[in-house]
Amino acid sequence: MACADLHCHTTCSDGLLSPADLVARAAAHGVDLLAVTDHDTTAGIAEARRAAAAAGVTLVPGVEISVSVAGRVVHVLGLGVDPDSPDLARGLARLESVREGRAGEMAARLERIGIGGSLEGAAAYARPGVPGRGHFARYLVENGHAPDMKRAFKRFLQRGAPAWVSAEWAGLEEALAWIRAAGGRGVLAHPARYGMTRTALRRLLGVFRDAGGEGMEVISGNQTPDLTRDLARQAGELDLYASRGSDFHGPGAGVELGRLPPLPQDCIPLWQACPELAVPAPAAAGGGWPCST
Ligand code: MN
Ligand code: MN
Ligand code: MN
Repeated sequence: MACADLHCHTTCSDGLLSPADLVARAAAHGVDLLAVTDHDTTAGIAEARRAAAAAGVTLVPGVEISVSVAGRVVHVLGLGVDPDSPDLARGLARLESVREGRAGEMAARLERIGIGGSLEGAAAYARPGVPGRGHFARYLVENGHAPDMKRAFKRFLQRGAPAWVSAEWAGLEEALAWIRAAGGRGVLAHPARYGMTRTALRRLLGVFRDAGGEGMEVISGNQTPDLTRDLARQAGELDLYASRGSDFHGPGAGVELGRLPPLPQDCIPLWQACPELAVPAPAAAGGGWPCST
């Protein structure tokens, strides 16, 4: 059965590994169904696809779209998208300009509190993309303004902090429309990470489903078995397929590739419901650690 990890980042957004290195690491850790889902860009897909073919990994081309809905930001994965879709490309180009404007404004606000050079500094980590908050956080850590990424966000970059800049991302319906136009499936990423009450999350999941969303991450990175069971139940009640992803950003940052627990028995895995995502990989994926669906 597939060892699926449907949520990973590369240097095309805020990940630390190039697309080819990510695929190689996934293969070495026993992942044979891998989605590359960079923030608001599909720039890493072509390289990942070539590396995946060589490594015997099935690549699911994806994207993690930033969405503004009801006054908050949520992340919607488009899985199985055609990166050449004009609708998707146009939408992502718009978000790139939102991201550029936000980066300039974040740098200006850091400048005002005495931290200069952050735009150039953050951009150096973001090549070829536009710097996001993670890149600014790295710049702040490496220049001694915060001891680690978590505190860089807390002190400077999160809502209420001095360099927080709100941005108008994609609308939920339009993000799902871009995904659909590109032949993909919309999946709500890491539902437990929005700091919502269970009731509010339930409402969001309903809105997401009614807008055409097809799945939700039941397993995302490190989480408690209790949370997994609760999310599995909500997926079942709302008729959403279950997905599973590490949200891998790099070695040593969060959960390692190939180490996710299986989805609960009663879930319908997205990759089984949507077999076009999981065209069988050629034999001889890299060996490595045991990993089950
Ligand atoms: Mn990220
Ligand atoms: Mn996310
Ligand atoms: Mn992510």
